[in-house]
Amino acid sequence: MIKYTVRCADGHDFDGWYKDSATYERLAGRAGIECPLCGSTDVARAPMAPRIAKSRGDGGAVAQAHAQEVAERILEAVQEMRKSVEANCDYVGPEFADEARRIHYGEADERGIYGEATNDEARELDEEGIEVHRLPTPPRRNS
Ligand SMILES: [Zn+2]
Repeated sequence: MIKYTVRCADGHDFDGWYKDSATYERLAGRAGIECPLCGSTDVARAPMAPRIAKSRGDGGAVAQAHAQEVAERILEAVQEMRKSVEANCDYVGPEFADEARRIHYGEADERGIYGEATNDEARELDEEGIEVHRLPTPPRRNS
């Protein structure tokens, strides 16, 4: 059962209980709902309470503000991660794949490195069992 607040053409509000929304629509469609105050069968569901409509609108704005905040935090985390890698690892530039291999096979000192690798190079390293992490690139900021 659902309760609807119904309003007649003269503006009288009254509550009615219906099995479901389809039952209400069927009754209203064949003049089966009568205003208890004036007997009019010209009725329609009263509009939703303004309070509900308002809170819905506010909810959307809050969600958007929160998404912005989350995006800012992710950006900060990415920048922190890059700073940490840059402070603790050797930059080997485009030699990354070769150097990673040399370290993996004991031909170079074991250490953290970072540099550029193509997608193919990264996949080959992965297939050879060499651990490679992709650094997310933070979007450029005008600063
Ligand atoms: Zn009425």
